[in-house]
Amino acid sequence: LKDYVGLLKIGNYDSNEIYFKLLDIFKILKIKLPYKKTVIIKPNIISQNTPKQCTTTHPNVIDAVCRLLRDNDCSILITESSAFYQGGYTQKGFKTAGIIDAVKKYDAKIVPIEKDGVKFYSNKNNKVLDGILLTKRLDEADYIINLPKLKTHAFFKLSCAVKNLYGLIPGGVKQEYHFIKSQSQDVFGEKLCDIYQTVKPDLNILDGIWGLEGFGPSAAGKPKKTGIIAVSTNSFALDYIICKIIGYDPNEIASNSSGIKRGFLKPENIVIKGDYTKPPEIFYKKPKYEEAKDIPKEKTMLNNFILKPVIKTKKCNKCMLCEQGCPLNAITITDDAKIISHDLCLSCYYCFYNCPVNAIYLKASFINLFIRAFRRVFRI
Ligand code: SF4
Ligand code: SF4
Repeated sequence: LKDYVGLLKIGNYDSNEIYFKLLDIFKILKIKLPYKKTVIIKPNIISQNTPKQCTTTHPNVIDAVCRLLRDNDCSILITESSAFYQGGYTQKGFKTAGIIDAVKKYDAKIVPIEKDGVKFYSNKNNKVLDGILLTKRLDEADYIINLPKLKTHAFFKLSCAVKNLYGLIPGGVKQEYHFIKSQSQDVFGEKLCDIYQTVKPDLNILDGIWGLEGFGPSAAGKPKKTGIIAVSTNSFALDYIICKIIGYDPNEIASNSSGIKRGFLKPENIVIKGDYTKPPEIFYKKPKYEEAKDIPKEKTMLNNFILKPVIKTKKCNKCMLCEQGCPLNAITITDDAKIISHDLCLSCYYCFYNCPVNAIYLKASFINLFIRAFRRVFRI
């Protein structure tokens, strides 16, 4: 069985051109979009960045994909949980990334995961993450389209199709999951494979018209014109070919090597179609990389970025919504106590977004507040 990767040469973000080139490559790769179904689109949004910063999936790529889906009378749901600690609420990120305006005409639902609700998903083949807290919308999806952005990544080296699925985990749970078993890249690669086999996206379309090189995945990296859109039904095949294009040895990326070991990909089965017959060489500057050490969570920088919900007891009207909605049973509301157990809480932020009287706030560390202020001033 072959794994096809379509490579399209596209010089700019003309949504009409992207639409017609995608139509062509779907024919070549024999990809059929569903008809009259519910489709989840997972873009890449980080913080409150804008399209010019090249950290987020460009709105015109999303526009072209929504147009293709509307041709087939599909209902479209665009869902994401942005890297929260970097100063962005997902809803604001959807706005600054230009996605809300781009998809208005398609009547697409925009769904920030932490606001919407989550549940645990299990997969007996998972190796590290037993149950994974993900958007509950996966239950509604007939078809999932993964729309990553091409970026180098200071911790994981590459942010592409497989890594993009990590954003289906809500809020600060993303940070919490880094501490499960080990903080090493190899284990993180296994976690990504667990998420992949739980979510199983049907299609991946990578926005690499402009990518991000250097100290990604946030705006500390540098935009890089690359002129590529890549399409594949296999997230690992797509990542493998992107590594070849930007000058990484594909086996250096932990999710690739774990994915190959688990049988998600046989590199010898990859076939390239479209505007190229082999990967073009458009080398990216790589971030300086140091393997994460397994130091206690309390002593890591990452721990500073996990916000914890706290109840303002005087404001709380004991409606019980937060207690009933918490997936970790971390909240106790009684006449005598209104408590969130931070030992149990995984920071999904559902309670914060859904308290009807704003009686819950998110407590941030001093370092977190400082970084947010810094990012706001320097717009990164
Ligand atoms: S949702 Fe808000 S008002 Fe309702 S019990 Fe929880 S903290 Fe109190
Ligand atoms: S306490 Fe709130 S933030 Fe923590 S897990 Fe429960 S709903 Fe999520």
